Amino acid sequence: MKSIVYYGSPRQARLEAKETLPAKLDLILDHLHLRERVKDEIVAIKLHVGNNIGYSVIHPVFVRKVVQAVKDGGGSPFVCDVDWDANTAAERGYTAEVLGCPVYPTAGIHENYFYTHEWKFKGMQEWRVAGMIQDATFLVNFAHAKGHPSCSYGGAMKNLALGCMTGKTRAAIHDTCHYDRYWFGERCPNETTRQKIAQSCPHNALVEDRHHPGELHLHIEQCNQCLRCLQVAPAGSLKIDPVNFAAFHEANAISVAITLGTFAKEKAAHVVLATQMTPVCDCFGFTSMPILPDAGIFGSDDIVALDEAVLDMTAKTPLIEENLPASMEVYSRTGHPLSWLHGPYKDPYNVNKFAQQYGVGQRDYELVDVLPVESITHAPIGYISASAN
Ligand code: SF4
Repeated sequence: MKSIVYYGSPRQARLEAKETLPAKLDLILDHLHLRERVKDEIVAIKLHVGNNIGYSVIHPVFVRKVVQAVKDGGGSPFVCDVDWDANTAAERGYTAEVLGCPVYPTAGIHENYFYTHEWKFKGMQEWRVAGMIQDATFLVNFAHAKGHPSCSYGGAMKNLALGCMTGKTRAAIHDTCHYDRYWFGERCPNETTRQKIAQSCPHNALVEDRHHPGELHLHIEQCNQCLRCLQVAPAGSLKIDPVNFAAFHEANAISVAITLGTFAKEKAAHVVLATQMTPVCDCFGFTSMPILPDAGIFGSDDIVALDEAVLDMTAKTPLIEENLPASMEVYSRTGHPLSWLHGPYKDPYNVNKFAQQYGVGQRDYELVDVLPVESITHAPIGYISASAN
């Protein structure tokens, strides 16, 4: 059976509040039966509250609606995010007064409150789930959709995968990209050649390795797989290999499997707001121009189906190339528009493919529009002369 994803379009038939996205969020929460499910529950509302001067995060108007729904249902909500974002959340408008509930760092103010889970993957042994997440009895995963430098797309999966782990685990998840060798220095004749390879990258993705002098380090985030470096590198000295990119995607799926594994299946709900979608994630601490048209708001009990629906919806829309920063380039127009920007090895569907393999959810879904946009037929009007009589 397909998973149900509830959807609210950003479009309106009329200029009325009840047809706007916050009102459609209310309808989605009704369809998810959130109020009926949270009685006496301690509800963690996991947001990304942004960083520094970023403002393309989820507006408090939306968050307050979720908080109110939880309170109406008899639950005790708190909003949470990783310490370095939560500790400055008030600077971006997230306060207890505005939201109606406290804002906590997920793993304590120094990220030393966590539960350890074991799962071996590409050099990782343990995963540290934030204590405030695992202590909650119900999880509302409220994510903002945007681009991401390592997996092209950040949405519901990404909000949990990185946002529910401590900093040490977040760093280890990123480091999985370097587990499989891509630099073979023995096939590079000298330092001059090595420097030429690094200089061939227009995105500064290849640098001298800090920990292993004499080797090259690939910044996966900055690499769009243009392969210019391979035209300079001696045969076999450097690989730009999908396996290194996919490691991060698979680690994200494992991370979510671990976090959601601490909740009973019916004790988690997921919502994605797909507006003001920028090229990279909200961790960057600033907001750039939107690169995709607003796609709306989505909600589901199935996190995989949810992200799949957001990706399918945004796949139908063009990348707004004139809004890209000049430093970014589009060299391929195949696949999802976010892949045009971040490269084919960062297929935004990859995290979902792995998540489905790990039993986190399913990619097959049915989209239910909670308030279809009514078509309005205007009566014909007569000719209006441009000249005044
Ligand atoms: S593939 Fe392109 S972006 Fe990636 S390291 Fe090579 S030159 Fe740089």
